[in-house]
Formats: sequence, C-alpha cells, structure tokens
Amino acid sequence: MKLKTRYIILVVILVFALILTGCSTKQVQNPGEKEPNISIKEEPNPAPVIEPEPEETKIDPVLVKANEAGQIMILEWHTIGEQEGRWARTYTNFRKDLEVLYEKGYRLVSLRDVVTNNIQVEAGYTPVVLTFDDGTEGHFRYIEQDGKRIIDPNSAVGVLKAFAEEHPDFGLEATFYINYYTPFRQKDSWQDKLKEVVALGMDLGNHTVNHEKLSTLSQEKVAEELARMVKMVQEVVPGYELDTLALPHGINPKEVNWAVSGEYDGTKYHNKAILLVGSGPIKSPAAKGYDPTKLPRIQVFQEEFDKWLNYFDNNPEKRYISDGDPSTISIPESEKDKLDEGLIIKDNKELIIYN
Ligand SMILES: [Zn+2]
Repeated sequence: MKLKTRYIILVVILVFALILTGCSTKQVQNPGEKEPNISIKEEPNPAPVIEPEPEETKIDPVLVKANEAGQIMILEWHTIGEQEGRWARTYTNFRKDLEVLYEKGYRLVSLRDVVTNNIQVEAGYTPVVLTFDDGTEGHFRYIEQDGKRIIDPNSAVGVLKAFAEEHPDFGLEATFYINYYTPFRQKDSWQDKLKEVVALGMDLGNHTVNHEKLSTLSQEKVAEELARMVKMVQEVVPGYELDTLALPHGINPKEVNWAVSGEYDGTKYHNKAILLVGSGPIKSPAAKGYDPTKLPRIQVFQEEFDKWLNYFDNNPEKRYISDGDPSTISIPESEKDKLDEGLIIKDNKELIIYN
C-alpha cells in the first residue's frame, strides 16, 4: 500500500506542477471572479515547482523477489448461484475463492492490462485475471429492496463489489464474456447492466451472439457472430471497445485470423486477446512463447482451483511477482532465458535483471 500511495502522491504533485506551469490563463478566468480589465500575459508561473524525490519511488526487485517472467492465472467461472458442480460455483464458494486469492497475495488486473503488458499491482504481489462466460443471471442480477433496484449481493458483481469495498487493495477487475441478445438474462435491465459493469471499472468481452462452434462456420458467419455482439455493446455503451474474445466451447474458427479481426455489415472488430476454455496459467506477456491469440484459462471448480494454487505455492519461482512498476520488467538472473527481448522492446519496457 505504501508504495502505491507514494506513487499516487508523486503523480498528484506532477499534475499539480503541470497545472501551475501550463494553465496560467485559466487561473484568472474563474467564473466566480471579476474579469480584470487589463489583459494578462501568459508567463511562466513563478510558483516553485516541487521536485519529486526519485528515490522514494524506487523499488528493490530483490527485496520483493520480483519475477515478471512468471506465469499468470486467468480464472474462469461459468454459473454462480446456489449449485456447486463442474460448471457451477455457489456464491459462497465464489466469495471464498476471492478470500483465498487475496490471502495468497494475488491482486486483480484487467485482461487488457495483461495483454498490453501494462500490469499494475503492488510490488511483491501476483496479478490474476477473473473471467465469467455466458452472461448468466448469476453473474449480474438486479433485485428489488425497499422499492429500490439494487445489485443482488449474491450475484458475482455483488460479491466482487462488496469484496473490493472491504479489501480496496484487491481491486475490482473482471471481464464478463457475454453472448445472446439478453446478456445477464433480465430483459428489462440488461442495457443498464452493461453500462454498470463498465462504470464499475470492469470489462465486457465477446462470447459471440449465438455461442456456436466457430470451426463449423464460414469466415463471413464468424465475422457476423463477433461483429453483431460488438455492435450491440456499442449501441448500449457508446465508445466502449469490445476487444477480447472467449471462444465458445473453446473452439477456434478454421483460421485463427478470422477471430482476430474482421468486419460484418459495417461493424469492425479486433480482438487483443483470444481465450481458450482450458487449462493452465498463461506465460508472462514478456516471455518467449506468449501468444495473445491462444490464452489458456483455469476453470474454477474446487479440484482444479486447488491444484493450481498448490502448484504456485510449491513452485514459487513459476509465479509472476510484480516489481510494482509497469514501466520496468524485473527478473532474477535464473529466469533470463524465459524472456522474449523482442516483446520487451516492443512494449518499451526497461529490463532489470538481478542476482
Ligand atoms: Zn460459453
């Protein structure tokens, strides 16, 4: 928390300094103030600029054992509700999942931040991505309480929101992969839900309109399946880019490129990430072999979830551990061979290798 706070303070100082130096005309034109008769020249403001203290923001990757070549889990839930099963999780267990992740030092990041290699978690912590497939009601339900509409605290969004309020350092990030024409299944309110997911800072993802096996479709049909969903979301949340895809049934079209980008009936799509259904962690976006068009996920049912949590407990060197600074990639010397230096240059990162 401390480091993040310092970073925020630093940003605030910088922004403040920029305002002071760059916007002197605005200062004399506050609506409440009288307009001065004399014209005021824009001059550099004499106010002292507070110098940031760079050593305050430095993080020692050795101390936190940063390993940004390590693996990351993209977790996947299907239904959330009263039932527990292979494709179903109870909301009580879902809440426990969040508790376990929190206690084990995982922190939420958006999938978009992973695929753009802009991972921002506190130094020493591990990023984790949450995803929900099929846009079922248990993911996001509104209920009536005292004549008011509220988010059902026992739906995934309700659980996530409450957990984030109690654990602000955990974050509130998740991607809801929606399909069909009434995402989250409540006819009167699905548009409000799409808006609310985005307003809460979480994401929507494409799971295609009809949830078909894309391998059986022509290129044009694949494009239709993806573009229709993009259009639907654009109409409800203008400006929002639906730019990641969870393959229905985990099945690719005949050509992966058909899923990456295309156009149908004037609507274009481009997916920054394509998610499979199974079955393991992803490589770091700075590692050799990282491929955003084939990102595996880990399905959360008890056995599978425990298996991977134990795997990272028993093999801590496999786990991605952040150095707290998205502009640097810190790795121990022993992991050097895993890095793809081309990706580091492409993403404009500074590489730190330590012993
Ligand atoms: Zn699905």
